[in-house]
Amino acid sequence: MTVPLITLNNGVQIPQLGFGVYQITPETTVEATLSAFEVGYRHIDTAQMYGNEKQVGEAFAKSGLSRDEVFITSKLNNGFHAYDDAINATNETLDKLGLESLDLYLIHWPLPEVGDYVETWKAMEKIYADGKSRAIGVSNFQQHHLEPLFAETEIVPAVNQIEVHPYLTQNPLRAFNTEHGIATEAWSPIAQGDVLDDPALVTIAQAKNRSVAQVVLRWHIQRGDIVFPKSVTRSRVEENFALFDFELSPAEMETIDGLNKDRRRGPDPDTFNYIPE
Ligand code: NAD
Repeated sequence: MTVPLITLNNGVQIPQLGFGVYQITPETTVEATLSAFEVGYRHIDTAQMYGNEKQVGEAFAKSGLSRDEVFITSKLNNGFHAYDDAINATNETLDKLGLESLDLYLIHWPLPEVGDYVETWKAMEKIYADGKSRAIGVSNFQQHHLEPLFAETEIVPAVNQIEVHPYLTQNPLRAFNTEHGIATEAWSPIAQGDVLDDPALVTIAQAKNRSVAQVVLRWHIQRGDIVFPKSVTRSRVEENFALFDFELSPAEMETIDGLNKDRRRGPDPDTFNYIPE
């Protein structure tokens, strides 16, 4: 099964389906990531905040895969938005992962009431210019967080990684991203399991002889978003990868689009200003 590649605004290509490692403990991350590589995943989404970059790096080193076969994303942690802090934090991330450069590096949250994310983005531009990441982007940025970047900095983010699932379809922000050449990455693509009992989704899944998780992930793929579901259960890791031998009809896509409740599982980027200890 071949995972489609999405071409980002600087020409770098990213596999549309990856493996997310949020809430995977450091003790289990090496095994879980190696297992994902075995299943066929070649794109890993981690973050400094997840505390498992070192173990993702260990898994990659053990995998026997070459550097250009694997796409690795990490994210700048919330405590390091000041320019010099951002540069130092990136060097630490690269050390932990054991890499010379990332494939994609994101500002994890805008933190509108803490510091100045425009300054942080200028540090990201420097990180990119120095070859420490092949592409740079943001996460959890609303339209009004992106606009100052367009006005005051040089590089348009390659991606915006935001919460998206059938209960939070995010169509206006996704359209804004597209209009500006920014690829949308959908985090918590199955709403951390919250959507799995939805009757409309269960009906589609039964008709397709697929699981609800597969139907929802396929919906994301057909909408063109990049996804990286998380699981440490091998059968689910396999299930979440088996998305390319079936298709949802336009009517099924429309039914799922109609489930939107604008309901977040995670924090609201406009009010989230958390800095870890
Ligand atoms: P998710 O929507 O991927 O759901 C994960 C949970 O769903 C798992 O804990 C598992 O219990 C369950 N699950 C997974 N596959 C299943 C299946 N086939 N059947 C039944 N249950 C299944 O949620 P997530 O982990 O929050 O999001 C995925 C990734 O997105 C993360 O690992 C991380 O990489 C990223 N993320 C980013 C941010 C951000 O702020 N940028 C925030 C949250 C997550």
